[in-house]
Amino acid sequence: DGKVTFDDVHFSYDANRPILKGISFEVPAGKTVAIVGPSGAGKSTISRLLFRFYDVQQGSIRIDGQDIRDVTQESLRAAIGMVPQDTVLFNDTIAYNVRYGRPSASEDEVAQAADLAQIGTFIAALPDGYRTMVGERGLKLSGGEKQRVAIARTILKAPPVLMLDEATSALDTQTEQEIQAALDLVSRGRTTLVIAHRLSTVISADEIIVLQDGRIAERGRHAELLVAK
Ligand code: ADP
Ligand code: ADP
Repeated sequence: DGKVTFDDVHFSYDANRPILKGISFEVPAGKTVAIVGPSGAGKSTISRLLFRFYDVQQGSIRIDGQDIRDVTQESLRAAIGMVPQDTVLFNDTIAYNVRYGRPSASEDEVAQAADLAQIGTFIAALPDGYRTMVGERGLKLSGGEKQRVAIARTILKAPPVLMLDEATSALDTQTEQEIQAALDLVSRGRTTLVIAHRLSTVISADEIIVLQDGRIAERGRHAELLVAK
């Protein structure tokens, strides 16, 4: 479930300058495909098209065979999960922030998702900036911790398709490795499209697509790629 198909996708933000010039690839159900390429190649545009922030001008994008233009914005949002690079937390407990991923989840499920994302120890805490009536201060979370809250939320939501836009922000190496491990966890067995900024983080992808100047320059497993090393 959750197969994603890009079929001869063409797109430009303005008519004179094509950004995607006929992109075709498939993310088979349960597999991970990574898009890599230099800055400006069109990687983020691919994720914006998947969320229908913009519509393709030629070709199509399908999820399980259905053109995304034929589904409601609500069902598209329900079908695609994402872990944003910058997570804004609600002024409520971390548990509440995790539960937002699936409000009907049980306490146990919330706790499990939090444990997997390694935020189990502060699930009852309130985020930074929060002040209760009695003047309690919130907990100051690092960028990496906030991202793990978002990861727990996505683990709980368990969407059929997962869209990951890898952090470009400067995280320290340990945080980066922890987040990478948590992202690997959330994407396991799930149809996942990763916008990657470093080839080193997508070694285990089932397919890597190298985007250059709006075209697919090369594709294959990590060990097979030539230009991207
Ligand atoms: P990448 O994610 O690979 O760095 P993007 O998809 O963000 O690349 O951008 C591809 C190209 O599209 C870039 O040249 C960028 O300047 C241009 N671009 C991105 N967003 C817009 C926009 N809203 N309007 C016009 N051009 C844009
Ligand atoms: P950039 O930081 O490259 O300009 P955006 O600000 O458009 O990109 O967003 C970063 C990524 O997060 C995008 O690739 C987009 O798909 C995704 N994104 C942004 N806002 C939302 C949203 N409200 N719902 C789902 N995905 C979003």
